[in-house]
Amino acid sequence: MVKIVEKVFSKVMQKTSAYSNNVRAIVDQLVEGVNVSREDIVYLLTYISNDDAVYLFEKANEIKTRFYQNRVFLRALIEISNYCTRECYYCGISGLVSRNDRFRMDRSTLMSSIDQAAFKGYQTFVIQGGEDPFFTTDLLVEYIKTIKDKYPTHRITLSLGEKTYQEYQRLFDAGVDRYLLRHESASKKLYNEIHGPSMIFEKRRSCLFDLKRIGYQVGAGFMVGLPNQTADDLASDLLFLKELEPEMVGIGPYIVHDKTLMKNASSGGYLETTIMVALARLILPKALIPATTALGVLEPLGREKALLRGANVLMPNVSPKDNLVKYEIYKNKTYAKDQTLDELGVRVGEMGLTLDFSQGDVYGWRQQND
Ligand code: SF4
Repeated sequence: MVKIVEKVFSKVMQKTSAYSNNVRAIVDQLVEGVNVSREDIVYLLTYISNDDAVYLFEKANEIKTRFYQNRVFLRALIEISNYCTRECYYCGISGLVSRNDRFRMDRSTLMSSIDQAAFKGYQTFVIQGGEDPFFTTDLLVEYIKTIKDKYPTHRITLSLGEKTYQEYQRLFDAGVDRYLLRHESASKKLYNEIHGPSMIFEKRRSCLFDLKRIGYQVGAGFMVGLPNQTADDLASDLLFLKELEPEMVGIGPYIVHDKTLMKNASSGGYLETTIMVALARLILPKALIPATTALGVLEPLGREKALLRGANVLMPNVSPKDNLVKYEIYKNKTYAKDQTLDELGVRVGEMGLTLDFSQGDVYGWRQQND
């Protein structure tokens, strides 16, 4: 059995590795759907080399292609509020950060963003915001019904944080199809290091299981490159994904924001993050995995390249320009560089991929009301 080491990705910059045979054997087992042990995942994360990573990416791309061919699902991302009462030490819009540019989108601005997205062909709207008590469940139910009345077969995804089972149920009954709630870290110790005392590790996990029970397509996810994060912590993230079986998985690098309590930490790496994306694809072959915006911050065309490493979703931001710069959960968000859909289509076309504007449910999902 391999010793659980404290250092993660310690050999990733090497060209070749004496441990390659073992690393690739673990990758092959994952491809075959074998339940690999925590020790094996830690071994892989510790000893993977650059060349092994290329091998892993090819396998992840093959599996993604098996279920989704060359399609890249598009979601229209709308940010409705940068008020947040929570205490995430890494987040630039948390309640702990003093800012004078807080905003809330009103109903007509939201509907006009939805209309514009629908006009461009999007069939999934992702409504995201901080945990803002202004948006009560009553108000959200009203908004959701308005949107669903107008666009009955379009999908609505919410990303509005932790709620009670009853609140999630009411939103589901109103017509919400999917819910994104990153678990952030499946290691309790690490979770507690990056959150204030009001953020309860067990509560976050139970929210995710509540969402599954209710019948949402559920998105979990985590950050890579957090201070003190070990191979064992990242193994916990992958094992948690296996246990929860979310339909969507959002994995992004930790990126420093200079107004937060974690401003002196270093950001996560591109290669390391995409290794975790590829591993998530092997563990959950049918999952919808976005190429997150944060990947584009670390590397030119970082989002697009991730589409060949296991990711299969892009979420262009269609919020009004004034709001884009204010929803600054980390520094240097790529909002300013977002391409038009035509440009995006050309970029992914050059990679042999094609933009897919359909509802983009997870493979095998049957929607009751269609
Ligand atoms: S990560 Fe989400 S819940 Fe945490 S402070 Fe930022 S917006 Fe709020």
